[in-house]
Amino acid sequence: MQTFKGIKIVNGIAIGKIKFYKVPVYEVNENLINDIAAELDRFEAARVKVQQQQHALFEKEVKEGRKDTAGIFEAHELMLDDEDLIDSCKEIIGESHTAEYAVREGFENAAQMFRDMNDPYFQARSADVIDLKNSMLDVLFGNDTDSLQGSEPSILVAEDLAPSETVKLDKNLLLGLVTRLGSSNSHTAILARSMNLPTLIQCPDVEESWDGRFAILDGYNSCLHIEPDQETIEKLTAQHEDDLKKEAALQELKGKPSVTVDGRKVRLYANIGGPKDIKAVIDNDAEGVGLFRSEFVYLNSKTDPTEDAQFAAYKEVLEKLAPRQVIIRTCDIGADKTIDYMQLDKEDNPALGFRAIRICLSRVDFFKRQLRALLRASAYGNLGIMFPMIISKWEVLECKKILDECKAELESEGVKIGDKIEIGIMIETPAAALCADELAEEVDFFSLGTNDLTQYTCAIDRQSANLERFSDTHHPAVLRLIRETIEAGHRHHTWVGICGELGADPSLTETFLSMGVDELSVNPKSILPLRGNVRKTDLSKLAKPAAAPVKPAEPVKPAPAPAPAHAPESAAKSEKPKGFLGRLFS
Ligand code: PEP
Ligand code: MG
Repeated sequence: MQTFKGIKIVNGIAIGKIKFYKVPVYEVNENLINDIAAELDRFEAARVKVQQQQHALFEKEVKEGRKDTAGIFEAHELMLDDEDLIDSCKEIIGESHTAEYAVREGFENAAQMFRDMNDPYFQARSADVIDLKNSMLDVLFGNDTDSLQGSEPSILVAEDLAPSETVKLDKNLLLGLVTRLGSSNSHTAILARSMNLPTLIQCPDVEESWDGRFAILDGYNSCLHIEPDQETIEKLTAQHEDDLKKEAALQELKGKPSVTVDGRKVRLYANIGGPKDIKAVIDNDAEGVGLFRSEFVYLNSKTDPTEDAQFAAYKEVLEKLAPRQVIIRTCDIGADKTIDYMQLDKEDNPALGFRAIRICLSRVDFFKRQLRALLRASAYGNLGIMFPMIISKWEVLECKKILDECKAELESEGVKIGDKIEIGIMIETPAAALCADELAEEVDFFSLGTNDLTQYTCAIDRQSANLERFSDTHHPAVLRLIRETIEAGHRHHTWVGICGELGADPSLTETFLSMGVDELSVNPKSILPLRGNVRKTDLSKLAKPAAAPVKPAEPVKPAPAPAPAHAPESAAKSEKPKGFLGRLFS
């Protein structure tokens, strides 16, 4: 048995074979070749094969009722028949180049031609050409991208995984996840938590030769055992069975209210990435969706999703989860969530760069496509719209103005829109937290994005593997900003939730409740454990609450949850309570 250490992201035990996830690298041979006819044949065979693949995708989408995405694959099939594209590739091969070289150059030239066009529609088509280029290279290099994950359930081991790769993994085939790189606050880690997948990051020993070997991932002890001995197998199998029993016991909390012993209610909502998570919301008895990361709809798509494609995704979620509230965050792309077809420039500091609302307010047509899709979907359920990465009031005003324009357009087209849509913003920058009073006047709710709030407050890049030691998710500065945001929100009858990962931290439940938080939105698997926690909490027994939530006078907006009965109007700061509450005063 060999044992390797890492940093655990998700507890739990995974038992099975390792599958090493190896991303294909295309090293195109640039040497000249002699057998031009053979290369022309290879090119033609690849073209036909990719065309067949696109046709199969087209048929699958039609069968599953997704006309919009079916149209994309149909267009891809036609592109592969384009005589200019085919001739230009054949011409390059005729100059004694390999088929791979010809595809790389020919398709790149075609993509550039689209990029140079003025019409945004044609510009966006360059991404389709690049997508086809990659598919052609996959075939020419003999890479079967579908088999990256293998066909049997396994512990996936990788150097690193981008959110766009993680989101495409088949969850039914995933027992656990181990990476050499990664950080605990990255989106890949968040996805692993949402799948409740035993996960280890920063395991320096990861190597390809582990592929196919039997292993046990022990999330509790942050290690991976390869070819474990009998004693380890028995011990960890028993623990795994125990975990399954505990999970089964949590089912009893379904249908029970999320209320403390002393009667303080909190709404427990779920964080999701798209329609595929609807089942998890229902199975885990979430009371709503507090964060639908709509960018995963974009990450899952090979091309910029059309208004209709987005509408279909939002409608499905709203309709199936009605009457629960579903808060959809507008596209939060950028930083670690990159998409080829968006053609974003490389930046030195992407987390501080062109991302989220900054992209949407700069590419208004792109933004409007999403807002129109959201408004159309609002007729099918209880929608909330949330804008990410806000730092200033003018941004909120501009978002609302564009939203109003979309509403007016749709109304003039006779399209039905839901009559009550709550509007909110994410508080995930110190700027927003410190200006919360001013911002609260403009919105119905705040949602604290503690992942970014921690990153920006502590100047800790959430992607960096080297900063784990310095990263403190319970940093008093972050906790203080959370408390002040809740207080500011309540002063303006704006309800306040937390949708960052901190919301699911059981050691902070009591702290957040005593601050007066109205909603906690967490990965679906954390709902029932959190409900258990809330139901065990008795705020009246707290020595001194961290801060009193401000009770609104006459609510003009949906009323925030009432302040705990015991909470004094202003926290006595002379006595320092212990633990996290104490840290708030430090
Ligand atoms: C956050 O920043 O806390 C958040 C919820 O958004 P994301 O993790 O998607 O950046
Ligand atoms: Mg964020």
